[in-house]
Amino acid sequence: MQDAEYALRKEIIETCRKMNALGINQGTSGNVSARWDKGLLVTPSGIDYDAIAPEDIVYMRMDGSYDHHLVPSTEWRFHRDILKSRKDVNAVVHAHPTYCTAISMTGRDIPAVHYMIAAAGGPSVRCAPYQTFGTDGLSRNAVKALKDRMCCLLSNHGMIACGVSLKKALWLANELETLARQYTVALQLGEPLNVLSDGEIATVVEKFKGYGLRPKSSAA
Ligand code: 13P
Ligand code: ZN
Repeated sequence: MQDAEYALRKEIIETCRKMNALGINQGTSGNVSARWDKGLLVTPSGIDYDAIAPEDIVYMRMDGSYDHHLVPSTEWRFHRDILKSRKDVNAVVHAHPTYCTAISMTGRDIPAVHYMIAAAGGPSVRCAPYQTFGTDGLSRNAVKALKDRMCCLLSNHGMIACGVSLKKALWLANELETLARQYTVALQLGEPLNVLSDGEIATVVEKFKGYGLRPKSSAA
């Protein structure tokens, strides 16, 4: 096995453990994947993240075939389909965090109630209609809900966050759960009426492109 592949397998396991440490995962419910070679590396099904080794991560080809001693996550279809259809995505994180899942139980999208929704790529986080876990139908609904977005909710189930890297996907998963928590609290005060416009979120999406550590000369 190449050093780079081994390092990516280790990073997938670290991402799983960080999901638990951040409190955004419930038991073994989450799963993580990353693009590798012509396919993907995906967590095996029903794993205990503390007991898993880099060799236990399953390499899967884009046609869904694999040669491994463990079965891949039951959600390999949406991991595979997202990585296959989205060239801008290299990593996918799925979990059942409490607030994302609570909102998904109401079947509603998250509207632009905070400017941080721009991290999702646009003025809403869609909630994909319910389908049984692990099915083609769920995968189809997820890919559709992710159009022009980097994350979505899954009705009566949880959430998916994507990224150019595992680090970014995990960061977005945590941001999405924070937004879901804030929206849930706001709903308890009444229906939030101050929804930001599509134009404002487009402005923030642009502004985020230059956000972060950079030389003073390039600061806006
Ligand atoms: P796996 O343990 O098979 O990855 O599935 C957990 C899950 O979240 C199903 O939606
Ligand atoms: Zn799930």
